[in-house]
Amino acid sequence: MKPRRHRATAALCAIGVLTLWTQECLAQVPAQTQATEPAAAERNPPALATLSRPTGRFGRTLGLPKDGRDLYIPDDDYIRFPLPPGAEAYADVDALKIKSVIGEITAISRKSREDGNQYWGRIPGTPYDRMTQDWVMAQFRKLGLADVRRQEIAMKPLWYPTSWTAEFTVDGHTTALRSVFPITESPSTPGNGITAPVMWVGLGTAADFQGRDVKGKAVMIYSAPTPGGRDHSADWSGAIRRANDAGAAIILVEMGFPGDAQSEPEGAVGANAPTVTITPDEANLIRDRLDEGRAVSFHLRLATEERTGLKTANIWGALPGASDEQILIMAHTDAFFEGAMDNASGLAMMLDIARHYAPAPQAQRPRTLVFLTTPDHHHGSEGIHWVRDNYDWSKVALIVNAEHPSQTLLYNLDAGVMTANEVSARRWFVGGSDALRALVRRTFRELGVATYRKSEVAPGGELSQIYMKAPSFHIIDHVIYHTTLDTADLVPAWGIEAAARAYLKIIDTVNTMTKDEIAAAPINLADPTRPVR
Ligand SMILES: [Zn+2]
Repeated sequence: MKPRRHRATAALCAIGVLTLWTQECLAQVPAQTQATEPAAAERNPPALATLSRPTGRFGRTLGLPKDGRDLYIPDDDYIRFPLPPGAEAYADVDALKIKSVIGEITAISRKSREDGNQYWGRIPGTPYDRMTQDWVMAQFRKLGLADVRRQEIAMKPLWYPTSWTAEFTVDGHTTALRSVFPITESPSTPGNGITAPVMWVGLGTAADFQGRDVKGKAVMIYSAPTPGGRDHSADWSGAIRRANDAGAAIILVEMGFPGDAQSEPEGAVGANAPTVTITPDEANLIRDRLDEGRAVSFHLRLATEERTGLKTANIWGALPGASDEQILIMAHTDAFFEGAMDNASGLAMMLDIARHYAPAPQAQRPRTLVFLTTPDHHHGSEGIHWVRDNYDWSKVALIVNAEHPSQTLLYNLDAGVMTANEVSARRWFVGGSDALRALVRRTFRELGVATYRKSEVAPGGELSQIYMKAPSFHIIDHVIYHTTLDTADLVPAWGIEAAARAYLKIIDTVNTMTKDEIAAAPINLADPTRPVR
């Protein structure tokens, strides 16, 4: 847990307004501060307090990342899947070493924050993108990959928020907000900002808006992550669009990760109103005042710009094999915030796959392994689009996507959050023959890679752009990404270990199959229910 967070939490609690979190705050602040707290019970009717407060079954309500000291779990304390008989060839996967590589990648993101960027991470078209590319090239060379090269790509215009501030005012008392974060493609405010009265619309369903005149208001919506920081209810339920179309002056989305994690989800494309997220901790400061029947005024100043003419780059490297048939192994490099899971974990896993195969003589690699990193998954995907449209797919037997392989299992608990010493199950996809699908499922099960019951019909992530070009598979977790929760503290080493071993075993087994055995049989147009054999 970062000291920064401790201070932020203490500051929020010390404001002393009546919130759901009052008990929690009292538990955190020093005794002398408690003595100066207004008597909470005076302003909080006991019956209501009993209803609205967490039960305290776990001592107090915990939020992330502020309670990381209590919630983050050391790698050794996670359940570890033992290497099963027959998988000895993958004993060389060193999970803690892979995890230390994640730290090198996330350091680039932290530098972007320390350099004063409010919008920080490994954002394509920025110096931190270039640093990541240079780092990848150095790793490829260190591993002895052949044909290591940088392929420059022209980017689409980049929406970039340069600075913003937010505050709310109640009864003439103004409180600065630290957690507000603009949603991609949000419009700017005028230079002096926008001030508007806050109106709470709950989940922002059509029913929530009935009888409410939100025109000119700062419309505040609660959004459930489903399950993660990118896909959330205020987006897919149309709540943001509903507020925008009804004339909201500002749209304020409370992302429902209990605690103080900032979020950069989707949902503001086409909005006329500046659209930002706010953490539950700070949203509660506002909501509790509304619950008291007080008028709350919200002020937002947001400056954004469109950066044009930017360049980014794909990075390529290869381990030549006995045949020129290829297995293409890819990972995207860009990230919001630290991006430890999304996608430092995938990139580190991809590099470990290269490390595993690099020492073998060329003749012992049945197929050529091509390694590719793409730089702008979250900003237009021009890197992978070039690959989709220009790569010679005739030689590719399998695409392997390394994206978000490991994340701590998290639960919403009471009004807070709880971590568990187990790796979360992942979304997954296999495109190809029944034999490939059976192989992937069996290998995941044998090597301890938990997955959802149903696979994706079409893959998400960077694979979404090219899965139609060749057989493919991936796993992809999607809870903490696009938030400040996405640090190495929530990326268990053993989850990467299991995934890396499974990926290696799948690649080795696929190399005993012909290209036709891996690919789905073409559709028989005369009888679509029967494949051509
Ligand atoms: Zn990703």
